[in-house]
Amino acid sequence: MRRSDNMRRIRSKNMKPELIVRSAVHRLGYRFRLHARELPGKPDIVRRKHKQAIFVHGCFWHLHPKRGCLDARLPKSNTDYWHEKLNRNVERDENAITSLKKAGWRVLVIWECETKHRQKLEQRLHKFLSAG
Ligand SMILES: [Zn+2]
Repeated sequence: MRRSDNMRRIRSKNMKPELIVRSAVHRLGYRFRLHARELPGKPDIVRRKHKQAIFVHGCFWHLHPKRGCLDARLPKSNTDYWHEKLNRNVERDENAITSLKKAGWRVLVIWECETKHRQKLEQRLHKFLSAG
Protein backbone atom coordinates (compact mmCIF):
# COMPACT_ATOMS: atom_id res chain seq x y z
CA MET A 1 0.00 0.00 0.00
CA ARG A 2 1.32 3.43 -0.86
CA ARG A 3 1.70 5.84 1.99
CA SER A 4 -0.69 8.38 0.49
CA ASP A 5 -3.40 5.74 0.15
CA ASN A 6 -2.83 4.73 3.71
CA MET A 7 -3.02 8.29 4.99
CA ARG A 8 -6.22 8.93 3.11
CA ARG A 9 -7.80 5.77 4.43
CA ILE A 10 -6.90 6.74 7.96
CA ARG A 11 -8.00 10.31 7.73
CA SER A 12 -11.42 9.41 6.39
CA LYS A 13 -11.98 7.05 9.28
CA ASN A 14 -10.37 9.30 11.83
CA MET A 15 -13.27 11.06 13.47
CA LYS A 16 -15.65 8.20 13.49
CA PRO A 17 -14.57 5.89 16.32
CA GLU A 18 -14.48 8.75 18.80
CA LEU A 19 -17.95 9.85 17.80
CA ILE A 20 -19.27 6.31 18.12
CA VAL A 21 -17.90 6.02 21.65
CA ARG A 22 -19.10 9.46 22.58
CA SER A 23 -22.66 8.76 21.48
CA ALA A 24 -22.64 5.35 23.18
CA VAL A 25 -21.65 6.94 26.50
CA HIS A 26 -24.31 9.55 25.97
CA ARG A 27 -26.93 6.91 25.19
CA LEU A 28 -26.03 5.08 28.38
CA GLY A 29 -26.92 8.26 30.21
CA TYR A 30 -23.55 9.38 31.49
CA ARG A 31 -22.39 12.95 31.46
CA PHE A 32 -18.81 13.59 30.48
CA ARG A 33 -16.25 16.09 29.30
CA LEU A 34 -14.21 15.95 26.13
CA HIS A 35 -10.48 16.25 25.59
CA ALA A 36 -9.14 17.04 29.03
CA ARG A 37 -6.01 18.83 27.89
CA GLU A 38 -4.63 19.23 31.36
CA LEU A 39 -4.51 15.48 31.93
CA PRO A 40 -1.72 13.18 30.72
CA GLY A 41 -2.41 11.97 27.20
CA LYS A 42 -5.49 14.22 26.84
CA PRO A 43 -8.12 11.51 27.34
CA ASP A 44 -10.99 11.72 24.85
CA ILE A 45 -13.72 11.33 27.45
CA VAL A 46 -13.41 12.27 31.10
CA ARG A 47 -15.64 12.05 34.17
CA ARG A 48 -13.63 14.04 36.60
CA LYS A 49 -15.77 13.47 39.67
CA HIS A 50 -15.51 9.74 39.19
CA LYS A 51 -11.90 9.88 38.03
CA GLN A 52 -12.74 7.95 34.89
CA ALA A 53 -10.82 8.53 31.69
CA ILE A 54 -11.48 6.94 28.31
CA PHE A 55 -9.11 6.91 25.36
CA VAL A 56 -10.32 6.08 21.88
CA HIS A 57 -7.34 4.85 19.95
CA GLY A 58 -6.97 4.45 16.23
CA CYS A 59 -5.59 0.96 15.59
CA PHE A 60 -3.04 2.25 13.11
CA TRP A 61 -1.72 5.27 14.98
CA HIS A 62 -1.52 3.53 18.34
CA LEU A 63 -0.52 0.08 17.08
CA HIS A 64 -3.34 -2.01 18.41
CA PRO A 65 -1.53 -5.03 19.89
CA LYS A 66 -4.40 -7.40 19.13
CA ARG A 67 -3.31 -10.16 16.80
CA GLY A 68 -5.21 -10.07 13.60
CA CYS A 69 -6.17 -6.41 13.79
CA LEU A 70 -5.81 -5.49 10.14
CA ASP A 71 -5.51 -1.78 10.78
CA ALA A 72 -2.53 -2.16 13.10
CA ARG A 73 -0.16 -3.39 10.42
CA LEU A 74 2.80 -1.26 9.44
CA PRO A 75 2.80 0.16 5.92
CA LYS A 76 5.03 -1.78 3.56
CA SER A 77 7.02 1.28 2.51
CA ASN A 78 9.02 3.53 4.83
CA THR A 79 8.76 0.80 7.41
CA ASP A 80 11.54 2.14 9.62
CA TYR A 81 9.97 5.58 9.72
CA TRP A 82 6.57 4.24 10.68
CA HIS A 83 7.97 1.76 13.14
CA GLU A 84 9.74 4.52 15.03
CA LYS A 85 6.90 7.00 14.81
CA LEU A 86 4.19 4.60 15.89
CA ASN A 87 6.27 3.12 18.67
CA ARG A 88 6.75 6.61 20.04
CA ASN A 89 2.96 6.94 20.13
CA VAL A 90 2.67 3.66 22.00
CA GLU A 91 5.26 4.78 24.51
CA ARG A 92 3.45 8.07 25.06
CA ASP A 93 0.17 6.20 25.56
CA GLU A 94 1.74 3.92 28.14
CA ASN A 95 3.27 6.83 30.03
CA ALA A 96 0.00 8.73 30.05
CA ILE A 97 -1.97 5.75 31.34
CA THR A 98 0.63 5.05 34.03
CA SER A 99 0.53 8.69 35.20
CA LEU A 100 -3.25 8.73 35.30
CA LYS A 101 -3.41 5.50 37.29
CA LYS A 102 -0.82 6.78 39.73
CA ALA A 103 -3.01 9.83 40.28
CA GLY A 104 -5.95 7.56 41.11
CA TRP A 105 -7.73 7.54 37.76
CA ARG A 106 -9.37 4.52 36.20
CA VAL A 107 -8.57 4.25 32.55
CA LEU A 108 -10.35 2.50 29.70
CA VAL A 109 -8.90 2.19 26.21
CA ILE A 110 -11.34 1.57 23.38
CA TRP A 111 -9.77 0.53 20.09
CA GLU A 112 -11.14 1.68 16.78
CA CYS A 113 -11.91 -1.88 15.64
CA GLU A 114 -13.86 -2.47 18.85
CA THR A 115 -16.29 0.31 17.99
CA LYS A 116 -17.70 -1.83 15.19
CA HIS A 117 -19.54 -4.05 17.64
CA ARG A 118 -21.98 -1.62 19.18
CA GLN A 119 -23.53 -3.91 21.72
CA LYS A 120 -20.23 -5.19 23.05
CA LEU A 121 -18.95 -1.65 23.15
CA GLU A 122 -21.88 -0.43 25.21
CA GLN A 123 -21.51 -3.33 27.61
CA ARG A 124 -17.86 -2.52 28.18
CA LEU A 125 -18.54 1.18 28.61
CA HIS A 126 -21.37 0.52 31.01
CA LYS A 127 -19.27 -1.87 33.08
CA PHE A 128 -16.47 0.67 33.30
CA LEU A 129 -18.62 3.74 33.94
CA SER A 130 -21.00 2.18 36.44
CA ALA A 131 -18.18 1.01 38.71
CA GLY A 132 -17.05 3.82 40.98
ZN1 LIG B 1 -7.73 -2.88 16.22
